[in-house]
Amino acid sequence: MERQGNIRIASENMMPIIKKWLYSDKDIFLREIVANASDAITKYQKLVDLGEAQKEDAYRIVVRTDKEAGTLTVEDNGIGMTEEEVENYITQIAFSGAADFVEKYEKAGGEGIIGHFGLGFYSAYMVSDDIEIFTKSYLPGSKGVHWESDGNSTYSIGDCDKETRGTKVVMHIAEGEKDFLNEGTIRRLLAKYCSFMPYEIYLNPRESGAEEDKKDDKKEEKPVNTTSPLYLKQPKECTEEEYKTFYRETFSDFNEPLFWIHLNMEYPFRLKGILYFPKVRKQVELERGQVKLYCNQVFIADNIKEVIPEFLMLLNGVIDCPDIPLNVSRSFLQNDAQVRKIAKHITKKVADKLNEFYREDKKKYEDCWKDLSTFVKFGCIKDDGFYDKAKGIVIFKNLAGEYRPIESYFGEKLSEEELKSGKEPAAVYYVSDEKKQAQYIKMFRDAGLDAIICDTFIDSHFISYLEYKNSGQVRFLRIDADVAGALKEENDAEDKELETIFSECLSEKKIKIKTERLKDAEVPAIVNASEFMRRMSEMNTFYQMGDSAQDLTLIVNLSNPAVCGLKEADEETKKTAVRQIYYLAMLAFQPLTPDELADFTAGQTRLLEKYLKA
Ligand code: ADP
Repeated sequence: MERQGNIRIASENMMPIIKKWLYSDKDIFLREIVANASDAITKYQKLVDLGEAQKEDAYRIVVRTDKEAGTLTVEDNGIGMTEEEVENYITQIAFSGAADFVEKYEKAGGEGIIGHFGLGFYSAYMVSDDIEIFTKSYLPGSKGVHWESDGNSTYSIGDCDKETRGTKVVMHIAEGEKDFLNEGTIRRLLAKYCSFMPYEIYLNPRESGAEEDKKDDKKEEKPVNTTSPLYLKQPKECTEEEYKTFYRETFSDFNEPLFWIHLNMEYPFRLKGILYFPKVRKQVELERGQVKLYCNQVFIADNIKEVIPEFLMLLNGVIDCPDIPLNVSRSFLQNDAQVRKIAKHITKKVADKLNEFYREDKKKYEDCWKDLSTFVKFGCIKDDGFYDKAKGIVIFKNLAGEYRPIESYFGEKLSEEELKSGKEPAAVYYVSDEKKQAQYIKMFRDAGLDAIICDTFIDSHFISYLEYKNSGQVRFLRIDADVAGALKEENDAEDKELETIFSECLSEKKIKIKTERLKDAEVPAIVNASEFMRRMSEMNTFYQMGDSAQDLTLIVNLSNPAVCGLKEADEETKKTAVRQIYYLAMLAFQPLTPDELADFTAGQTRLLEKYLKA
């Protein structure tokens, strides 16, 4: 006989909240129901282990869509429930969580809440207007129990003829939610949330004993999930091919990953997972990755920034952490000490693995560096702790083409006193564009000086970070920023008269004039661009605040024979020659404007005519 009852808590208050709370993410009801089924099987298996229940060989969860009946059904062969348990766990427990939930929900300001307040089961009411449960406990002599409720305030409970152990949840899908009766929709949702659940899940399998089954019984049906995903295995037992296949299947990305890190720890908390470093296709564009978070093989969400350090979000990966407190709101997660520890630990592991990679195979590491470097540098900028662990493997190529850890390029460390007195550290010169800066590179090479190549888009941020991080101990100058300082032969060589000649001939140009005796005699002059002003200007462009003026100096080389001869030349030649020297220097620095180019060409012609006139 069916008995009627009232659901105790003020559920009229709760349903609208459940509906609103999960509205944007209704899909998760399926995860909740299937996860309950999976838990019920785990509970049964535990009893088997304890010798309290009979061994079961074929655990399975079956999901069925039935358009005609308008139902979605999830059935398991887990522990099942007695009538009393249904009363306790479904009717009461589920609702006892409600008051708590409502309170916390309001505190969190309605922001997305992950997890359960004993409301998992009731989330199915977001899409159903009636739910039935048919269940039979594993306990010997148990009767089948039938429970039904429209999710408002009444329910009925009674006996039924259920022969097999386990629970079947029948959701009568509501009018506006019929999409959940489509096999394709359910398949997609199972793939998203249940791919790695520990028991086989079948979607619309053929009824056993059905006619077509007999005809075709060789054809085995496949579960929709992988019950033991690769990340659960010991890293030693996984092959390269398996890692690649897992990547392809999990992220539907047919590009091969560059490198991966298999996390597997038991202490101080349990965490397993694989992080893949993708190949960076375009330098400027870093695609956001996808790090999927699981809790005991149940998908929780993508890219939860509280758990996974931000810079790792550029990677693709799966992380399974059974110890994450998921029954709290997102904002609480941020302040949770345990969660912070997890994030820190992931960071440390990644740094350890990269160090190991560098130690074990420098050559391969260098080959991968082009793709890896963005992640590593971004990680350093975002996370000081990561820099401290990774600095030994942040490598830069020098003019000789060898890669060395960045700190090996730093000059000698300054003492406290020197720092206090404002002494500048030795400069580390860098090239941001090998083609454009070829003239400068040549001069540096000839003078036996070195520079590092910093030509990725993140490098300018990274060197600023290094200066900040190593306060006062390192200074980066672009190779064209301090030509005079780096290449001059002697101190205080200057020629005031020449400086005046240049200033007068170039009076309309925005450039300062300085004479120096450079080691290289070949070049008559070279442009020096103030590092500080250039960075300011780059920043302005970056923040779209318009271009700001560059601070340029023309270094006139007193070692150059043409420059030496200039004073003797007639006025006319002097004027032309000074401008040609200026343009030649500019050409090695940046492209000329059309007007400048015209002026340069005309000057060149004048010189030729003078030189060749009969
Ligand atoms: P939670 O799963 O967070 O405990 P639910 O509302 O989803 O909350 O479920 C409440 C309880 O009902 C579960 O803890 C479990 O005891 C019981 N239950 C739900 N689904 C099943 C099932 N398929 N088999 C056995 N017990 C179940």
